[in-house]
Amino acid sequence: MAYAYDPENIFAKILRGEIPCNKVMETEHSLAFQDIRPQAPQHVLVIPKGPYVTFDHFGLEASDAEKADFVTLIGKVCAELEVQPGEGGAGYRTISNAGEDGVQEVPHLHVHILAGRMLGRMVQ
Ligand code: 5GP
Repeated sequence: MAYAYDPENIFAKILRGEIPCNKVMETEHSLAFQDIRPQAPQHVLVIPKGPYVTFDHFGLEASDAEKADFVTLIGKVCAELEVQPGEGGAGYRTISNAGEDGVQEVPHLHVHILAGRMLGRMVQ
């Protein structure tokens, strides 16, 4: 499968510094920042700096260093949010929407990390 990356997507603009963001953490290959429309008291997006559209694209084409960096940053953000007390106690959710069926709005790979409230069951 060929992956077409649109360098004009909003997260590419954030990475280039053309649009501001509320940065949470940054590493060599990844960036974590607050979602502009938070769905929970804590809502952080983690993105790789490389031009990847979805997790499958990233899994096939990213280097081992990019993969290790990305997963580590996701874990570090989760570790920080997990200790914030939510309505039901500690915890969090990670989600990555991909493509049309996944209802992905921004075509640059991102993981949502949500915390700070009882998030409910995903499968009823
Ligand atoms: P998706 O539906 O693609 O999984 O999620 C995209 C997310 O990006 C949404 O939660 C949306 O609120 C967030 N978002 C869209 N535009 C911006 C922006 O300009 N800045 C930030 N920080 N988040 C954005």
